[in-house]
Amino acid sequence: MPYRYHCRDCDLAGAVHPSRRGAGQDQGDHRKQAHGGMSPPPGDRIGYAPPSSRGPLIAIGVFALLILIRQLTGVAPDDIARWLGLIP
Ligand SMILES: [Zn+2]
Repeated sequence: MPYRYHCRDCDLAGAVHPSRRGAGQDQGDHRKQAHGGMSPPPGDRIGYAPPSSRGPLIAIGVFALLILIRQLTGVAPDDIARWLGLIP
């Protein structure tokens, strides 16, 4: 699950990390550099970072492109796979 550190005092967010530990490292580094090692007065937190919404959009775009190629050329992805011998 992706995690990200956010400092409410500076209104800054760290990079997205695959684990809470990576975001905790950002928290420690930021507290040392910006707040003298202390926690910022309004607080900071490590929270869940939702995945990018671009992933599904890219998949939809690729799917639309394959449909367009099929409409224009009559060649479908399974035809190409059959020509390459990947499927019988
Ligand atoms: Zn800060």
